[in-house]
Amino acid sequence: MNFSDSEIVASIMRARGYDVAEKADHADVIMVNTCSIRDNAEQRVWKRLRELKSLKKRNISLQIGIIGCMAERLKEEILEEHLEVDFIAGPDSYRVLPDLIEAAVSGQQAANVVLSEEETYEDIHPVRLHSNGVSAFISIMRGCENFCAYCVVPFTRGKERSRNPQTIIDEARTLFENGYREITLLGQNVNSYRWIDDNKDEINFPKLLKMVAQIDPVSRIRFTTSHPKDLSDELLRVIAENENVCNAIHLAVQSGSTPVLERMNRKYTREYYLNRIAAIRSIIPDCAISTDIIAGFCDETEEDHQNTLSLMREARFDYAFMFKYSERSGTIAAKKFEDNISDDVKGRRLEEIIELQQEISLQSNQNDMGKIVEVLIEGQSKKSTSQFMGRDDRNKVVVFDGIDLKKGDCVRVKITKCTSATLIGEIVS
Ligand code: SAH
Ligand code: SF4
Repeated sequence: MNFSDSEIVASIMRARGYDVAEKADHADVIMVNTCSIRDNAEQRVWKRLRELKSLKKRNISLQIGIIGCMAERLKEEILEEHLEVDFIAGPDSYRVLPDLIEAAVSGQQAANVVLSEEETYEDIHPVRLHSNGVSAFISIMRGCENFCAYCVVPFTRGKERSRNPQTIIDEARTLFENGYREITLLGQNVNSYRWIDDNKDEINFPKLLKMVAQIDPVSRIRFTTSHPKDLSDELLRVIAENENVCNAIHLAVQSGSTPVLERMNRKYTREYYLNRIAAIRSIIPDCAISTDIIAGFCDETEEDHQNTLSLMREARFDYAFMFKYSERSGTIAAKKFEDNISDDVKGRRLEEIIELQQEISLQSNQNDMGKIVEVLIEGQSKKSTSQFMGRDDRNKVVVFDGIDLKKGDCVRVKITKCTSATLIGEIVS
C-alpha cells in the first residue's frame, strides 16, 4: 500500500517539476513514507531519521519530510522532538506536498494531516518506481472502517472510500499497453469495494474484478487483501471462471480461537473461517491460500494458541505473514484490554507458529513435485545470471535455468525440487 502511495507522491511531485533522485545524497528533498502497523515498523523509521539527520548536517538546504501513517499518528511529537523534520503529510494530504515543501523552504515546519472522506487520487497517474516493468499495483480504495481491535489503520488512513471503476480500468489498460503483464488490485478489504454508477447500478468487487480481467485476457490479475467476513461465493466464482484471475487468495485469519477473534472484533468465528476455506477449495480446487497470524493478543491462553496451530493444520496455508501482537495506542484493544502476554511467551508462540508454517509450506511445495506450472518471468535469479525467477499463478516463486529469456515472458516449468519458500524446475516446451 505504501509502495503504491509512493508512486502517487512521485507523480504529484513530478507535475510540479521535481524528479526522482537516484541516491539520497543527490536529493534536495527526502520523504520517508511511514507505516505504523507495529512498533518495529516505527522503530525502523526513527533509525532512518537519525541517518537523515546526519545527512542534513552536511547539506543544510536538504528538506526532510515524514509522510504516511506515522505522520498522521504522531504529528505533534515529530514536529516538537525532531527539528530536522521540515514537513509532514498524512495519507490524504499528498496533493499539497509541493506547497508544504515551499512553505518549509522559507524556514517554517509545515504540516497537513487532514483526513478526507473523498480523496482517492483517482486522477493521478502513478509514476512506476523501481518497477520491473512486469508487475504493478493499482489502489482501488482507501481507508478502512473495520476497526479490528488491534489495528491502527482506521485511525491513520480514515474512512473507507472506493475509487471510480472507470479510472481503475483506464489505469490497467495503460499498464498493459506499456508491457505490464500482471496487476494487483489493492485495498485494506477489497471485498467491500462498492461504487454506484450513473444508472444507479452497484459495482461490487466481483464485478470490478471481472471488468479488469476482461481488458487483456492474457495478463494476470491479482488482488489483496480480503476480509474473511466479506469473502463471497460470487467472488470465488469470478476467480474460477476467469482464467487470468490468479488462483491465490490472501485471507488473514489472525487467530484460530473464536473468543480471541471476538475480542479482536474480527466478526467471524473459527468455524465460519474454516467454512470459507472449504468454499475456496471446492469452487477453486487449485487455489493457493495465504494468511496473517498474530501471536499473543491480549488474554490469549495456551488453549487459544493451540487452536491457532490446529487451524493452521486444517487450513493448510501455502504461506503466512506472522507477527507478535504489538499494542498501538488509541486502538480499541489499547483502550479496552491489557497487553498482558509477556514478550517471552509471545516470542515462543510466534516461533511455534513459524515452525509449523514452514513445515506446511514445505509439504505444499512437495505436493507440486512433477507438476507443470506457468511462470511469468520477473527477472534473473539472485544467484546466477543463467537462472531466472518468476511466479506461478498461485504466487509461488519458481526458479529455473534458461537462455534467451526476458522479463515479462511466460514459460512452462516442470517442478523437480523445492524448499519451503521456492519451487525449482526445468523449462518444458
Ligand atoms: N487490511 C488487512 C490487513 C492490513 S495490516 C486485512 O485485514 O487483511 C496487515 C497485518 O498486520 C494484519 O492482518 C495483522 O495480522 C497485522 N497487524 C495489524 N495490527 C497489528 C498489531 N497491532 N500487532 C501485530 N500485528 C498487527
Ligand atoms: Fe486493520 Fe482490520 Fe482494517 Fe485490516 S480490516 S486494515 S486489520 S482494521
